[in-house]
Amino acid sequence: MEKVALIKCIDYDVDLIEKKLREGFELLGGDKYLKKLIPSGSKVLLKPNFLSIEQPGSPVITHYAVFEAVIRIVKEYSNDIIFGDSPGFGDSRKAAEKSGLMEVANKYGVKFDDFRETIHVRLDNSILCKSWDIARAPYEADVVITLPKLKTHAMAYFTGAIKNQFGCIHGTQKAGWHTRMPDANKFCKMLLDLNTLVGTSFAILDGIVAMEGNGPKNGNPHKMDTIIMGESLSAVDSVAVRLIGYDNPLDTPTLKEVYDNKWGAVLPEEIEVLGETIESMKPKNFKLARKSTGFHFSNPTVSRFLTGMLAPTPSLIEDKCIGCKRCQEVCPEKGKVISMVKKGDKLKPVWNMKNCIRCFCCQELCPVGAIETKNTTLSKIIGMSKRG
Ligand code: SF4
Ligand code: SF4
Repeated sequence: MEKVALIKCIDYDVDLIEKKLREGFELLGGDKYLKKLIPSGSKVLLKPNFLSIEQPGSPVITHYAVFEAVIRIVKEYSNDIIFGDSPGFGDSRKAAEKSGLMEVANKYGVKFDDFRETIHVRLDNSILCKSWDIARAPYEADVVITLPKLKTHAMAYFTGAIKNQFGCIHGTQKAGWHTRMPDANKFCKMLLDLNTLVGTSFAILDGIVAMEGNGPKNGNPHKMDTIIMGESLSAVDSVAVRLIGYDNPLDTPTLKEVYDNKWGAVLPEEIEVLGETIESMKPKNFKLARKSTGFHFSNPTVSRFLTGMLAPTPSLIEDKCIGCKRCQEVCPEKGKVISMVKKGDKLKPVWNMKNCIRCFCCQELCPVGAIETKNTTLSKIIGMSKRG
């Protein structure tokens, strides 16, 4: 039985968050537990989510106050702490500086790593991917603590502890993984392998203010007053998805892969929730990015075909688009899907959906939220609703 601490925290006040995190660790086993998690002399890597260059307190990224509270606790067990991430677009250092995380890190002597230095490694006991180029810092750290933000996600439905580690792939190489893993099932298997490779030790999920709707970058903030903590990343994510409205965690692609591949705890009966109860912490009217297709076929070709027919498509909100071409730049299927065409005095993207792999990098990284996801005609006919 995996243990997960579900904690109520109503504000981004660093002293309050520290107190709440200590309560969470107490529930998990207190000082003894922490000493085992962070053995003496360990090099600890903190992996927040800085998806893009964002203002401090943006609901896109891990809040700097959560980051600071975590450092205060981890510092009691290690003097060798680094932090880093590789955003999907833009410079890692700038993202760390703009978000307020760098200032916090400097205050506590926590070093920054931009994840540019990569290492080629093999994972022989993988589910899918054996050969990797990943950031050296998380690979070589003794203890990796992931600090995800609770957000909706167009492809994976939800991003939390497991998905956050995709940042361990350097920015420029992320597109290559999307091309190699063109459907959600494969992509999610890859995420599990990546977490095995990195050896992520613990997750602290920032859901004090989560993101709903058109996430993970252009959705709306939703105050949930929630922190979820645990060693089992899949258990932490399972609690998170049940909170936001997926009563069956297997309705989300990553947790379905966790279950199918016996990667970790995911079913309610495999997880002991300590602290608050899921029922008492469920937010009202949380807008999901997607609902399950409800189709699970063992034949991958049939499954891929149906997913293609039912998966939402990227859709432009014309009046928001500023014609910056970023969607075209970040599309891993470069040149084959998005063309920029002149409309009036501006360039606007046009999609050739035949070649689109539905990775939603364009939607994720549009700087002004001009791309949303739209249901296909077939999914509308069979009554699948995009949003919860
Ligand atoms: S859709 Fe977004 S990313 Fe694409 S050109 Fe318009 S503003 Fe830029
Ligand atoms: S158009 Fe968007 S969703 Fe389609 S492959 Fe390109 S980035 Fe992915």
